[in-house]
Amino acid sequence: MEKTNLLIPLTTLRPHHALCTLFFEGKGYSQGFVENMWAVVGDPGQMVQIRPGCDVLCQACPHNENGLCDDEAKVARFDQCVLSHIGSRIEIAEPIPLSSLCQVVYDTILREDLLEKVCGECEWAALCQDKWQRGDFNRMLLSSNLLNTREQNRYNGS
Ligand code: SF4
Repeated sequence: MEKTNLLIPLTTLRPHHALCTLFFEGKGYSQGFVENMWAVVGDPGQMVQIRPGCDVLCQACPHNENGLCDDEAKVARFDQCVLSHIGSRIEIAEPIPLSSLCQVVYDTILREDLLEKVCGECEWAALCQDKWQRGDFNRMLLSSNLLNTREQNRYNGS
């Protein structure tokens, strides 16, 4: 059979935004930003790729100035820090389900108690750190949670 090379554009996420999705609870920089966030957070199975620079979340953000964050130096540090922790497990631009990306970030950063070290300078840091202390985050974004749900459904016969 003839091989087809369909070029399907992948959703791009800057590395530190995996953390933002895990703690998102409906707050953000504008109504448009919040709606866009919900759309991304609501689809854990979607294929994404990580790349530094403006991404699918930045595209609806009022801080995006012609494709560059108006606090780029700071957010680029967050990205680099995330990459330094997950780098051996995920390649830049590698297609990966959002849930697998979030699982790696969970395993290598959150469970290692590195949240403050990675993005403690962020204006939302207190909110995320408080949620982490309370175990309140978007567990449905973790691939282990998806597996558990599938296992439970199988067990329940649904
Ligand atoms: S603040 Fe900057 S990095 Fe964060 S979503 Fe907006 S443009 Fe992107």
